[in-house]
Amino acid sequence: PMAHEVVYQVTVAPAPGGGAFCAFIDVTEQELIGQLRRDFVANVSHELRTPLTALLGFIETLQSSAKDDPVARERFLGIMAREAGRMTRLVRDLLSLSRVEAQERQRPSAQVDLAGLLASVIAALKPVAQEAGVEIELIGGGAALPIRADGDQLTQVFHNLIENAVKYGAPGKQVSVVLSRLPQEPGLRGPVVRVDVQDRGEGIDAIHLPRLTERFYRVDTHRSREKGGTGLGLAIVKHIVNRHRGRLKIDSVKGKGSTFSVSLPLQ
Ligand code: ADP
Repeated sequence: PMAHEVVYQVTVAPAPGGGAFCAFIDVTEQELIGQLRRDFVANVSHELRTPLTALLGFIETLQSSAKDDPVARERFLGIMAREAGRMTRLVRDLLSLSRVEAQERQRPSAQVDLAGLLASVIAALKPVAQEAGVEIELIGGGAALPIRADGDQLTQVFHNLIENAVKYGAPGKQVSVVLSRLPQEPGLRGPVVRVDVQDRGEGIDAIHLPRLTERFYRVDTHRSREKGGTGLGLAIVKHIVNRHRGRLKIDSVKGKGSTFSVSLPLQ
């Protein structure tokens, strides 16, 4: 059903005395959930079929015309490796998403130092940043900042956000990761820590912002694929932030860049 439609299941039964009972049950939500599931399965199938079709095509070519051409063979094997890599990342992100969803109701209980965690994520992304000609700076990460969290999951959140800032940022322009403590944030109780991941890239049109965390939603599908994206990164981020009772806010100015802010409650 469309967003504004209400779907009723109607049951009619004879009533004593010759009349009839008529029951209207609002099944809009079940219908919507069913529709979302069908869309998801269709999307996953499509995302898997694209690299598979390419792989099968190249296998066929290698079995026939390209068999005795070493240059073509090298090039095709390179493309096949890239397509297989794409499928691997997709399966990894799908598993990650389903694991995160399954744990969404369990409160994370480990003690994690957010400043240290951000420093390690930035260190791990250094080669990717260097290749893109981008420098990542960490501001406000001087002192340890212990919070109750799931360390692996938060690593994934900031890895995805900082990697996106590098991927969609502008070469030669900095990516800033700013860590701050705030007495409060709208929608959250008590003091919070906020991490702003800011790039100076092309920015995102306002119409896309509300849908950006949907699975497989991309502003530019071709560009995302070219950069090795699965379209699931921000959906994973959103679920993990929800599990931590936090908030994800996206601000973007076309032509200037984007800021993805994650706020997490401090104990
Ligand atoms: P992907 O694997 O495609 O990067 P994500 O879920 O991480 O998937 O992001 C969804 C889409 O949001 C991307 O395809 C891209 O269009 C857009 N996006 C994400 N981060 C940024 C950013 N920092 N700047 C511009 N666009 C972005």
